[in-house]
Amino acid sequence: VLASFQLPAAVAAQCGLPEHDGFTWLDAVQELKKASAGETPVQLWQRVENHPMVQYVPAQCQDCGRHIKDTYPAPEDPDLVEEEPTEEERPFVRSGWFRGPRGPVVFVYRCPDCGQTTRWFRSLHPEVTLNPRRWGRLCGEQEDLKAWLARYLGVRLRVCCPLDWDHVWTEVWDGIAWKPLDPNCLNFARRLHEGIGSWTRVLAIGTPGSGKDAADAGEASEEVTEAYFARAGGSPEELRNWRATVDAARADASGASTQSRTLCGHVLQVARFDDLRITQELRSAQADFDLGRELCELRQS
Ligand SMILES: [Zn+2]
Repeated sequence: VLASFQLPAAVAAQCGLPEHDGFTWLDAVQELKKASAGETPVQLWQRVENHPMVQYVPAQCQDCGRHIKDTYPAPEDPDLVEEEPTEEERPFVRSGWFRGPRGPVVFVYRCPDCGQTTRWFRSLHPEVTLNPRRWGRLCGEQEDLKAWLARYLGVRLRVCCPLDWDHVWTEVWDGIAWKPLDPNCLNFARRLHEGIGSWTRVLAIGTPGSGKDAADAGEASEEVTEAYFARAGGSPEELRNWRATVDAARADASGASTQSRTLCGHVLQVARFDDLRITQELRSAQADFDLGRELCELRQS
């Protein structure tokens, strides 16, 4: 797949390659590996996050680059129509958000600047989304590509989701421990002081295939609230305050104490799920997911 895309000279240059035509993404990835030789997985992944291969690209005219506005509610645009995919496109088209929720459709844009016609759609497939010639690559496409690249490069990732708080960040397995990519996240517990409400737990969710390594070390999916209390390195008094704030938010059935005004932590509290039980559930969910089990095949219990 990587070798099938010829890079424009300017993109090759952004990847650290000589600025001329003829290189492919495979050359770019080899260059990336070369540059990161001897570095930790965290440093390698930092390079991937900043690499042109996973860059955000707004949906646009693929000839001149005029942007197609992704507004919502979307005003009528006489230059943009939605069509059923062709037989060739169909296996690659997914539903998703563009100018509102959409089924698996193709956006056909007749550019008012250059007169050329562009066909573009949301897709899960690197065969489509790696296209370096102005293919619209929105957040969903970026995340799917990163998960795909992580498996390709043998880097294990997990996503940390605080409950009842609007934020998310990535951790990378460095062979010994999980490390947040953004070191500011080490201090996440201190955000309880910001006065914008509380979170109730932090859950780490493994990305597809990242559940276990060969040595069975560092299972990806788990409850990590205590780990994030510890990481912030608070004084005993700070730690007591953080625990009290989180406990109060878990006990509050109104949702008013949490930043997102939601009740996930409270629901787990009422269900009497402790840290250990939550970890068990997350791990069994990840095992099912990695085996490709569908929701309807899961055991009823
Ligand atoms: Zn154009």
